Amino acid sequence: MLNIAALLVLIMTVTMSGQALAKVKVVATLADLGWIAEQVGAEDVEVEFLCQGHRDPHFLPAKPSLTRKLKKADLLVYNGLELEIGWLPLLLDAARNPRIRPGQQGELNCSMALGPGEILEVPVGEVDRSQGDIHPLGNPHYLLDPRKGIAVGHLMAERLARIDPEAGDRYRNRAENLAREIEARIEDWEARVDSLAVKKVIVYHQQWEYLVDWLGLDVLGVIENRPGISPAPRHVEGLVELGRQQGPVLVIAATWDHVEAANRVAEKTGSVLAVLPASTLAMEEATGYLAMFEVICGKLEVAAGEGP
Ligand SMILES: [Zn+2]
Repeated sequence: MLNIAALLVLIMTVTMSGQALAKVKVVATLADLGWIAEQVGAEDVEVEFLCQGHRDPHFLPAKPSLTRKLKKADLLVYNGLELEIGWLPLLLDAARNPRIRPGQQGELNCSMALGPGEILEVPVGEVDRSQGDIHPLGNPHYLLDPRKGIAVGHLMAERLARIDPEAGDRYRNRAENLAREIEARIEDWEARVDSLAVKKVIVYHQQWEYLVDWLGLDVLGVIENRPGISPAPRHVEGLVELGRQQGPVLVIAATWDHVEAANRVAEKTGSVLAVLPASTLAMEEATGYLAMFEVICGKLEVAAGEGP
């Protein structure tokens, strides 16, 4: 006959194996973060993301389908530095999921992976609306530096290990493997861009600061000089003049920018426009975070006249 102690052991075993089978439900705001979460979490997690890769993450309609994803989440991973400020707070309010509220274990601001001094373009002085849709905490587009992707991977692993301690070592090992994989590719990307004859760039949105900082490119100017506001013709003319004087230049735009406006600047400066994926899945070939950098390097090579 089964005594009470044996019954308890049986119940505990069933419950624990049930827990072990349950995957941690991760919701990432961005496709880049979703991809990193998949690498770090693998079979221990289920990952969904909110902003499709082809969409500009500055602006996302706060749809009920996105709220539904957040309702189920055990962990929300987001970019931070106010990139998602226009839509994530609305979605969080609508989702009413206590696990992922600010300050909870299930809420992870991935910009915490950046060390002191690593955030670029932190504005000095007061920020007001006349300067455009400026990012008051600094430039949030740090995922366009793959070294930051490594740091985010480690940060995610630590948080997942807190939520799911039994799989802690697996998360940490996968983040370590991901770091090694990214590091190996970084050398190749750096060498390829280093060998380009053209090092000066004109960018559409201030989206590429971390990328150009990493790759040692030199930004001559920004077409959209006030973020989110169409540039004044006089500003564009000045930039074209600068490009002509100091060229050759590469003109860089994201897939969701005003590509035509960027193309006009490229034509007038006698240079080539490189439309780049600023996110995983922003272009079909950018199937993952590493593939995105591969596409970026390839497109820069083509624009600089050194591609295949
Ligand atoms: Zn931005």
